[in-house]
Amino acid sequence: MVKETKYYDLLEVSPDASESELKKAYRKKALRLHPDKGGDPELFKEVTHAYEVLSDPQKRSVYDARGEAGLSESGGMGGMDPQDLFSQLFGGGGFFGGGGGPSRGGPRKTKDLVHRVHVTLEDLYKGKTSKLALTRNVICSKCAGKGGKDGAVQSCTSCSGQGVKITLRQMGPMIQQIQQQCDTCNGTGEMINAKDRCKTCNGKKVISEKKMLEVHIDKGMKGGQTITFRGESDQAPGVTPGDVVIVVEEKPHERFRRQGDDLVIDQEIDLLTALGGGQLAIKHLDDRVLIVKINPGEVIKHDDLKVVPGQGMPSYRHHEPGDLFVHFTVKFPEHIDAAAIPELERALPPRRPLDKFPKSYVVDEVELEEADTRQRQRAEPMDEDEEQPRVQCANQ
Ligand SMILES: [Zn+2]
Ligand SMILES: [Zn+2]
Repeated sequence: MVKETKYYDLLEVSPDASESELKKAYRKKALRLHPDKGGDPELFKEVTHAYEVLSDPQKRSVYDARGEAGLSESGGMGGMDPQDLFSQLFGGGGFFGGGGGPSRGGPRKTKDLVHRVHVTLEDLYKGKTSKLALTRNVICSKCAGKGGKDGAVQSCTSCSGQGVKITLRQMGPMIQQIQQQCDTCNGTGEMINAKDRCKTCNGKKVISEKKMLEVHIDKGMKGGQTITFRGESDQAPGVTPGDVVIVVEEKPHERFRRQGDDLVIDQEIDLLTALGGGQLAIKHLDDRVLIVKINPGEVIKHDDLKVVPGQGMPSYRHHEPGDLFVHFTVKFPEHIDAAAIPELERALPPRRPLDKFPKSYVVDEVELEEADTRQRQRAEPMDEDEEQPRVQCANQ
């Protein structure tokens, strides 16, 4: 749940925008708003500040959780000269010429860590913040990621620092070259004498660390949306850490179906309410109960669809509510007291009279019995999807 969207709005991105989306959006806006191009310096400063915060995962999570107020509390307002950030991003001054842009295929990154969270419809309706414990590698602080004392790291003697070894194998008349990972250095190409190894990381340069991430499920989020924690994946020496990407999955709900920002509920009512009116209670996804009135004389038919405006899901970001559709099924009574039938006859439209047939037809009176399960199956319509594969047009 994002507390404020001001910074996202300034950049015209959604609060789950990825790092590259933010960068793209900032670049677009900054080029348009740059004072050198006649843009408003104040707005340029604001947009740049928004980007400065959102591009820093630490500041971004503070902002998402507590808004601007949170940033000033945690002293994150330091602020950078917008021109500096701009140059840093787009490489020196020459951003208007040539369209060079940031160089492609930059530093290597460690793998993104993708984690799926299964979220109830209730939580997507109300929003929720949950904690996620994450185990990741971080650079060993004792040796600053060097694995040992200065100079302790040597080229692996077994593979001459290549990390791989080539072996030749005779295969009948042919000699095959096989490249294998060096098992002395595990493919790193480096060796550290046991006595010089960093005691904290045992020469591995990284240590495993547990970290808690606060995942803000914003109201109205949908299954498949992602929340990115930039640079929170494994650290490794000389490599940019990848992102932790949280993928939101929507759990099916036992009563409501979601269709975009609308909700649909199947609601059974008794025949008397359907015909004579009454009330029904729909427990919503928060702690509210909606009392729906059916006016006497209105008549709800089986399979009728009605709508309660504004009681659907909140839309993502703007939190504008969708609608709640109520799909009715009418529960008929098993039996009815025969003595009450005259009253029904008075209240309901008359019975449909029997069709007329020519005198030449033979008229038989027959018995109506309950169909058992097997008989029911025989009567059910064939499912078209389960038909045998049809012959297809050869020239298609
Ligand atoms: Zn080696
Ligand atoms: Zn170490």
